[in-house]
Amino acid sequence: MNKNIVIHWFRQDLRLYDNPSLTEAAQQGAILPIYILDDDNAGEHKLGGASRWWLHYSLLALNKSLKGKLSVYIGDPEKILIDLAEENNIEGVYWNRCYEPWRIGRDKKIKKVLEAQNIKAKSFNGSLLWEPWDVLKKDGTPYKVFTPYYRKGCLSAIAPRTPLAEPKYLNLYDGHSNKLTIVDLKLLPAINWNKQLEPHWDIGEMSAQYKLEKFIYNRLENYKRGRDFPALSSVSRLSPHLHFGEISPNQVWYAVKLNKETDDLDHFLSEMGWREFSHSLLYHFPELPRNNLQTKFDNFPWLQNTKHLRCWQRGETGHPLVDAGMRELWQTGYMHNRVRMVVGSFLVKNLLLHWHHGEKWFWDCLLDANLANNSAGWQWIAGCGADAAPYFRIFNPCTQGQKFDPDGEYTKRFVPELKEMPSKYLFNPWEAPDKILQNAGVTLGENYPAPIVNLKLSRVRALDAFKSMK
Ligand SMILES: Cc1cc2nc3c(=O)[nH]c(=O)nc-3n(C[C@H](O)[C@H](O)[C@H](O)COP(=O)(O)OP(=O)(O)OC[C@H]3O[C@@H](n4cnc5c(N)ncnc54)[C@H](O)[C@@H]3O)c2cc1C
Repeated sequence: MNKNIVIHWFRQDLRLYDNPSLTEAAQQGAILPIYILDDDNAGEHKLGGASRWWLHYSLLALNKSLKGKLSVYIGDPEKILIDLAEENNIEGVYWNRCYEPWRIGRDKKIKKVLEAQNIKAKSFNGSLLWEPWDVLKKDGTPYKVFTPYYRKGCLSAIAPRTPLAEPKYLNLYDGHSNKLTIVDLKLLPAINWNKQLEPHWDIGEMSAQYKLEKFIYNRLENYKRGRDFPALSSVSRLSPHLHFGEISPNQVWYAVKLNKETDDLDHFLSEMGWREFSHSLLYHFPELPRNNLQTKFDNFPWLQNTKHLRCWQRGETGHPLVDAGMRELWQTGYMHNRVRMVVGSFLVKNLLLHWHHGEKWFWDCLLDANLANNSAGWQWIAGCGADAAPYFRIFNPCTQGQKFDPDGEYTKRFVPELKEMPSKYLFNPWEAPDKILQNAGVTLGENYPAPIVNLKLSRVRALDAFKSMK
């Protein structure tokens, strides 16, 4: 029997290039590449519907790169790994680290159990530019504010690891037969909702690399300004690829850095810095997905209103930019960052609904749903996070639309009922004279919703609620 067999356990690193664990495993002997769908340990953070859809295709792409040798499993990794190790005389199990609290706890335990059986267990950094425990303030405590975290902490720390090549030779162990196929993981939804996502995405490592090259070539130059306009294709849309590790942040970082130093380049890298910051927050404050980091928000007088929540989820609030964003999310599994901020602010401030509702809906619908970025994003919007938008900063969806979607191209793409509305009234159709509504073929409350809240009054109500908390 082959003595040098090691497992590479794919998790959020579904790629062959710049994969530290895979590269190390390849030097040890034959590799048994596996993926385990672990819904049991994930609890309330098991993958949402959109993420499952992505994962299905990402695993298919990975399996193709591995010449059909990827073995997949469902269940508790501890048991699966121990059984596999016994059956195949495995020497070691290698993986790249994940930073969700439930995964950290599970992996620590698995490491102990494997080592107790004389099986090597080695983990690597394949998902972050800087490990959260390496970027700390002088007094050894974690940063809570982005700018010093990024400027003083990250940029003055050791430069991130440069990307690794694809292992030259992968000796894939084929003495093991696994009964499950990727289809058996049942990641695709039972209803055909996923069909609408398909035209928008090419999934897998090669597509991610191609997308990065295209972004650098076509869009990086105008990133700083263009990233605020949802109708422009100025952002990279790399987030789901980064989340599933089809591309590493190191590959992105160094490919971008090859270009001339400009404000656009710096700004893009600082957005990658926000990704690092969110992961650092999640690592140091594992309660981030559930608890307000500013505890004074524990007494915030949130409302309960199922009807309003449903309108928000469906993109039927009667506020066109909010509706466009929520429909973009449903139809494409993605939402532009500026619009994420607008719909988020609308939910927690104009509707006074708890940020948990937003976090949960995004978790299920976003293809890039990521515990660190999503929780930090929602705490930022609600004003209760570490380095949060001040509570009184309430995005006005009407003026945001006029400023960042001046021709209404984005809004009309997702809210076609309003395609004939003149720009002047596109974001506030309730203020349009009857004649204008008539000419545009819009009847509020019939073919487009009447607004579910008044922006001015709900703003005042939100500010009062904020004051009442002190
Ligand atoms: C309420 C809310 C929830 C969010 N939930 C998620 C989420 O679940 N997953 C997720 O990846 N991002 C989330 N974000 C952050 C951000 O909206 C997305 O990362 C970004 O829109 C992805 O598009 P892109 O790849 O084109 O970004 P680009 O502008 O091209 O940026 C490049 C990369 O930098 C990172 N990045 C950019 N902006 C941010 C940010 N504000 N915070 C953290 N990382 C950032 C992402 O990895 C992104 O892919 C959320 C933001 C908000 C306000």
